[in-house]
Amino acid sequence: MSSLESAQRYFNLAADQMGLSANMRKLLLTPEREVKVQVAIERDNGEVATFIGYRVQHDNHRGAFKGGLRYHHEVDADEVQALATLMTWKTAVVDIPFGGAKGGIQVNPKELSAGELERLTRKFIDQIHEILGPDKDIPAPDMGTDAQIMAWIYRQYSKYHGDCPGVVTGKPLELHGSVGREEATGRGVSIIAAETMRRLNRDIKGATVALQGFGNVGSFAAKFLYDAGAKVLGISDAFGGVWNKDGLDIPGLLAYANKNRGVQGFPGGDSVTNHELMTSKVDILIPAALGGVLTKEIAELAQAKVIVEAANGPTTPDADEVFERREILVVPDILANAGGVTVSYFEWVQNCQHFQWELDRVRNELHKIMVASFDKVWTTAEQKKIPMRTAAYIVGIGRVGRATQLSGIS
Ligand code: GLU
Repeated sequence: MSSLESAQRYFNLAADQMGLSANMRKLLLTPEREVKVQVAIERDNGEVATFIGYRVQHDNHRGAFKGGLRYHHEVDADEVQALATLMTWKTAVVDIPFGGAKGGIQVNPKELSAGELERLTRKFIDQIHEILGPDKDIPAPDMGTDAQIMAWIYRQYSKYHGDCPGVVTGKPLELHGSVGREEATGRGVSIIAAETMRRLNRDIKGATVALQGFGNVGSFAAKFLYDAGAKVLGISDAFGGVWNKDGLDIPGLLAYANKNRGVQGFPGGDSVTNHELMTSKVDILIPAALGGVLTKEIAELAQAKVIVEAANGPTTPDADEVFERREILVVPDILANAGGVTVSYFEWVQNCQHFQWELDRVRNELHKIMVASFDKVWTTAEQKKIPMRTAAYIVGIGRVGRATQLSGIS
């Protein structure tokens, strides 16, 4: 099943619960605009290389289109559309005034030099700048992109439209970025994990965690969970994994992974395979890398009590059914990883107001929004006796649906 089919299946489960009309389903599922461009650049060796770039603007009834740009060799039209719809529900679940979009380029960024990456990014913006803007569509980092790439987007867009930092979020601090943006998704994940434990009458302190992925999201989630007193027993990345039954020394591991190629070989633990980690006996399992990694087979073997989805779309619908049957609580992506786009919103607000917030303010506001959104989804799930994912979709679809209705179709 493709990621788009999965996203639509989750949508329909909630839409059925809500008794949503066929017309409203059609309106809410169809993207506003899908753009596909050919991005040609000259490689450092003089060869011409072409890449395919996408931007899907799914829905803007609650505000400007918002969502990241992914540079990954598996990016395709279906995946970008699926991720764009997730952004629409995500911004609605945390109730920030944006719609949903996503973009990407089918490229392995590790195979390009910094100069090639810059030319690729600027050329992409040359091709799509007219559909972007601080009140139209605001990209941000996602898998394979970072603050440097956001800086090039900001500067390239400004060549056409005048200085305009609010056109993109996740920028470097020196170029109108926000303090606390880089850590935001991981921090949000740790807040949601703590809230989940609290609702289960458990403390995050002493809770055991296994984490898949040690990129931006996974590494900050590990750091904040460790700071909160959780025991992160295992972490895996694309190259390998480490395990320590007494809890990994996360500050040490962060320093090690920065110097080496990932977590593999860390002296403070034993090696563990990805499969062992995903099926390990822990309180909380956090997939924080690619989509579709929690398959039906893994779901049958999983021994975690709770799954907190830090990645976008990590659980296939078949696996979701198994988790429900096995009473493993799944905290869905559109809630769990919404900290990133929430602090993107703060960055955009600061850019609009030409005023900088302090870190404490960013963290406090993030905490407030994550806890309130968690409560809303938890209560909805409890009242309707439905899984948290369906509850989150009901909250998100409800808000977008009402905005759509109030706007009128014409
Ligand atoms: N790429 C992130 C996400 O999937 C952040 C998006 C944003 O900040 O606009 O939520």
